[in-house]
Amino acid sequence: MAKFIFVTGGVTSSLGKGIIAASLAKLLQSRGLKVTIQKFDPYINVDPGTLNPYEHGECYVTDDGAETDLDLGHYERFLNIPTSQANNVTTGRIYQTVINKEREGEYLGKTVQVIPHITDEIKRRMLLLGESGEYDIVITEIGGTVGDIESLPFVEAVRQLQWEMPEEDCMVVHLTLIPYLKAAKELKTKPTQHSVRLLSQEGVHPNVIVCRTEHPLSDELKRKIALFCNVKPNAVIEAIDASTIYEVPLKMLQEGLDVIVLKKLQINGYAAPELGKWRAFLDKLNYPKSRVTIGLIGKYIELQDAYKSILEAFVHAGAVNQCKVQIVNVHSEFITDDNVSEKLKDLDGLLVAPGFGSRGVEGKIIAVKYARENQMPFFGICLGMQMAVIEFARNVLGLKNAHSTEMDTATPYPVIALMEEQKKVKKKGGTMRLGAYPCTIEEGSLANKIYQSTEISERHRHRWEFNNQYINDFSQAGLVPSGKNPVNGLVEIVELKNHPFFIGVQYHPELKSTVENPHPLFVNFVQAAKYFAEMKASAKSAKMEKETA
Ligand code: GLN
Repeated sequence: MAKFIFVTGGVTSSLGKGIIAASLAKLLQSRGLKVTIQKFDPYINVDPGTLNPYEHGECYVTDDGAETDLDLGHYERFLNIPTSQANNVTTGRIYQTVINKEREGEYLGKTVQVIPHITDEIKRRMLLLGESGEYDIVITEIGGTVGDIESLPFVEAVRQLQWEMPEEDCMVVHLTLIPYLKAAKELKTKPTQHSVRLLSQEGVHPNVIVCRTEHPLSDELKRKIALFCNVKPNAVIEAIDASTIYEVPLKMLQEGLDVIVLKKLQINGYAAPELGKWRAFLDKLNYPKSRVTIGLIGKYIELQDAYKSILEAFVHAGAVNQCKVQIVNVHSEFITDDNVSEKLKDLDGLLVAPGFGSRGVEGKIIAVKYARENQMPFFGICLGMQMAVIEFARNVLGLKNAHSTEMDTATPYPVIALMEEQKKVKKKGGTMRLGAYPCTIEEGSLANKIYQSTEISERHRHRWEFNNQYINDFSQAGLVPSGKNPVNGLVEIVELKNHPFFIGVQYHPELKSTVENPHPLFVNFVQAAKYFAEMKASAKSAKMEKETA
């Protein structure tokens, strides 16, 4: 049986519990322990799959096809091990299970109540991964903020588990905020005291307090927090703002968070932290030798969390290339034929983002055309790939009004069409083509060069597909389907001949990019953008030389 660490949050949301949990996990992993992280979310949706990205940021998809919270992306990026359906549980899923059981008659005439039935189901799921025998430690992040009505059953479940388990098998790390009052030039501990009190009133006493702060905490302040919150001073951990989330594990190492945890859990004989790869990555990230500007063409760009994994994949790929990747967000709704050149001409590469529905698609199509005609590196993901297909159909194959039936059911040329198995689907939740599927890559293609392989597996989240009725027309005209599902022939990758880098993928490569395994598509795209930038710069200086001669 594994040992359990629960991470709760107080004072405010958005303190970065996911990053703290992932950093702690990374440190424990670096000392040779087998660690996983799971997230319990208090909202009623069964999963975040039906949530608008504006509500909840990106929906992260696991290999086994679970639509999950974006924090699972951080867990995978930090730990370099896959998560699964079991790693993300919501109140909705808990209630769904309990209500289904009640309908089956499993409660034998009992009144079904929050305590014990809901809390029992929460506890069962909290322990599940720990019982697999695969892990030494399971870290559980409790979503929301202590004091929220909806998180009460989760905190109660933690209380019961703490009571049931031996002292050394279970602990609670509480993350809070120490605000800095500019006018008083002072860091304030009161909100932390209140949030720990609130947690204690709910029966849970934290063993470690991690304090988010913009300024260093003095020893005196740490002692004060320790005294008021009833923990030892070395259990008050400063989590000062970092320049990148990937610095946080090293900051936590300096603060000794992992050692306190190991002591509390009575884990002896652990190794010194092995963080060589991690530090090498940070060195490259912090000392770039070049710079590229990539346009992210999307419709949710006001909210950066909507494209979290894409942005992080660029951080990984930038580090590999020792290149600072600057992302410029371009709102696809406002791109027109008249302004496209003005908006995109200074970029070194274009990524057209995933998405749903018709808002902003015409702008995406115009952007693809610009990249295709101007030899600008292009990378289309999911809807971005579909837009590349539509653009090519309209402007190269001459199929006027070609479209996806997602946006135009009456299009004369449905080059993107609903997948056969999707036609009978009525329910929205969990019914897309989800999770990992294999793809066979054509030898000698750009994709083959990038992956250095002909057999890959990538994660999906879509309902529409490339319409294979048109496959020969596209191939002959130069947009080649270079990757297909080996079982059903579904097109997974398209690439343009006679273009330095133009590739669209039906799947989501960003979901598999980690610090230790940056995704080859992103790595090669950044390389192509670097080359494009260099070519632009040398053409510019040649022109200037000519003018001055
Ligand atoms: N809306 C498109 C589909 O469902 C693309 C989905 C996506 O970009 N994830 O096929």
